[in-house]
Amino acid sequence: MEYKEYKKNDILTVTIDDMGNDGEGIGKIDGYTLFIKDAVIGDVVSCKIMKAKKNYAYAKLEKVLAPSSARTEPICKYYRQCGGCQLQAMSYEAQLEYKQNKVRNHLIRIGGFDKELVETVMEPIVGMEQPYYYRNKAQFPVGTDKEGNLISGFYAGRTHDIIANTDCALGVKENQEILEIVLAYMKDNGITAYHEKSGKGTVRHILIRKGFTSGEIMVCLVVNLKKSLPAQDQLVDLLKKVPGITSVSLSINMERTNVIMGKEVRTIWGRDTIMDTIHVRNTSDFSLTNQSIDFCISPLSFYQVNPVQTEKLYSLALEYAGLTGKETVWDLYCGIGTISLFLAGRAKKVYGVEIVPQAIEDARKNTELNGITNAEFFVGKAEEVLPEKYEKEGIYADVIVVDPPRKGCDEACLNTMLKMQPKRIVYVSCDSATLARDMKVLCEGGYEVVKVRAVDQFGQTVHVETVVLMSRVDG
Ligand code: SAH
Repeated sequence: MEYKEYKKNDILTVTIDDMGNDGEGIGKIDGYTLFIKDAVIGDVVSCKIMKAKKNYAYAKLEKVLAPSSARTEPICKYYRQCGGCQLQAMSYEAQLEYKQNKVRNHLIRIGGFDKELVETVMEPIVGMEQPYYYRNKAQFPVGTDKEGNLISGFYAGRTHDIIANTDCALGVKENQEILEIVLAYMKDNGITAYHEKSGKGTVRHILIRKGFTSGEIMVCLVVNLKKSLPAQDQLVDLLKKVPGITSVSLSINMERTNVIMGKEVRTIWGRDTIMDTIHVRNTSDFSLTNQSIDFCISPLSFYQVNPVQTEKLYSLALEYAGLTGKETVWDLYCGIGTISLFLAGRAKKVYGVEIVPQAIEDARKNTELNGITNAEFFVGKAEEVLPEKYEKEGIYADVIVVDPPRKGCDEACLNTMLKMQPKRIVYVSCDSATLARDMKVLCEGGYEVVKVRAVDQFGQTVHVETVVLMSRVDG
């Protein structure tokens, strides 16, 4: 088909009838596709072309001419500049529909599953009761504004320019006070912010994490410095007055990298870890049961950021695992043993594998803390530990649970899982595209999809968590 020639700066009117994976609005004019950031499905907008290609263009939202019924007023004034939230202008209900569709489309397009099958196995997405102020962790970059004032906030979308905002609508209310204390202390003592381009300056990031059940708060300053901070005691004196703070530490990161945390953490006041509790919920209505597990969490360990939804997610994973007390279970990518310890109560034995040594230290402490005796942990890459244990020791699994990072499972890991032939595989995923890719491999290797359920852990953003049950066809 021949398109009309469109070029940069053209102003067009278009109806938005779809949304992309990054939350951008998508509209078509005679088959020519426009991608428009900040436009919402159902809007009629005028937009200006920024970059025109033969079949499509990226355009900037100029004006909403007729708002979609899914539109709502974003509560954060930095919403359009900040890279953190992509869906604040959409009602929460519409956000859930978008996420359910995203998972469905990935299963069909990337996983190659039949549309009818997907409709039968997918259960309704589990939404949040309170889609703001839900994050238990935030990592704020520190920098300077044009006038040279110290600031902290968020990176503007797709850049490393910092927007000063200490009051993020996703985080806990204590964040603001803590950030202001740290910035004032830095100013008082002439401590500089780290400058990415030159590699000079001292404070890079401020990590704040709160245990929602325990109320305990950890503050960790990521610094480009080997020794103590100047007037460090002053910082500690100020921070320990904030109710809840039980741990203050420095993470030493002197590398020219955009990895936030350094490998070494030094506690400068209080304990090395904070505590939190995760409850098992009934999966019929997600009400709390009287079972729970306590966790200690160190600054370097991964811990799910939305504690309320995590309880729902793990409870579903536990239900999908279908344990009776007789099973041997492997929990790959286990972090601090969160899912492993959930499973341990209903399994004969649980083995966890995780790449970060501090996380495994936490996992072992957590096992002891909860009086659990049937969980064992290994440090290493899942794709190396599992094949090695399988080939050398002939290990066995009735159920394998995986919860990999966004890039999904390594091929060597998937192949070993197939060789081990567990009855069930429970896949917890934070990226439905790589999930669908891996499910395809597992289903071609002898598994069938039984259940898929999306859980919204990240309201206002395009991200979505999914839990899947696959079972062995001849098992
Ligand atoms: N199941 C845990 C952690 C999930 S996040 C929880 O719910 O809390 C994914 C985890 O995988 C992180 O802890 C990360 O450190 C770990 N990881 C990343 N790559 C890995 C690999 N190749 N092998 C094992 N663990 C890995």
